[in-house]
Amino acid sequence: MAKIIAVTNQKGGVGKTTTCVNLAASLAAMKRRVLLIDLDPQGNATTGSGLIKEELETSVYDVLVGTHGVKEVMKKTSPGDFWVLPANGDLTGAEVVLLDLPSKETRLRAGLYEVDNDFDYILLDCPPSLNMLTVNALSAAQGVLIPVQCEYYALEGLTALLQTIEHIANALNPSLEIEGIVRTMYDPRPSLTHDVSSQLHKHFEDKVYDTVIPRNIRLAESPSYGLPTLHYEKSSRGAIAYLALAGEFIRKCATR
Ligand code: ADP
Ligand code: MG
Repeated sequence: MAKIIAVTNQKGGVGKTTTCVNLAASLAAMKRRVLLIDLDPQGNATTGSGLIKEELETSVYDVLVGTHGVKEVMKKTSPGDFWVLPANGDLTGAEVVLLDLPSKETRLRAGLYEVDNDFDYILLDCPPSLNMLTVNALSAAQGVLIPVQCEYYALEGLTALLQTIEHIANALNPSLEIEGIVRTMYDPRPSLTHDVSSQLHKHFEDKVYDTVIPRNIRLAESPSYGLPTLHYEKSSRGAIAYLALAGEFIRKCATR
């Protein structure tokens, strides 16, 4: 059975997509079978994995509305060596279309049954809001991985996210739990970083990953080449950090 993890935080620009693409590539490099699902109409995980949005004939939108199965739509990336269920602008209209469909909150979950035995990990890259796409992700997932930047407003936003997670757990998905908190774009110099880190440890205890993702220019550059950083510059600090994160992720998942 695949372990399904939603990478989410309604704040934009915290590193959700960067974490999804690079964690997917790092897990694949460790011989895990990975499916990355792009749930953001911007399609950044799609292009960052090397797929061309304009060339897609079908996307995750078709799975959500039920005209296609996941296996018909997913595409293998190269050299990333993982599978992607891509997104493009079509997804912008999904919110409205979903409202009129039955089981609107659980359509992704229903679509994923088909591939449950084909993957070790399914990663869901969520949009920067708590909309129906995010609700579908949280209904389908067993765990939530939350990237946070260690800055003051990071903690404020987490309260709303935790309430949403609790709400979905109660209403739709009782087994949903927080898989972990990952500190991204980490700069150890400011004292604020340490203040926020210690707050996170206080609230989330061992859910805070030991691995931190440093601010690294290679992580920002590699999407424009359609490459996970591991395949762009494998000795970069960013690529090495995500390999370490994948190792810790596998260990943590195995003990839950
Ligand atoms: P989100 O998906 O949460 O909106 P992204 O992963 O797209 O966030 O990251 C936002 C921006 O920051 C992107 O331009 C990305 O390339 C850059 N970025 C993300 N993580 C890092 C990092 N660790 N170091 C440097 N740049 C980063
Ligand atoms: Mg994103």
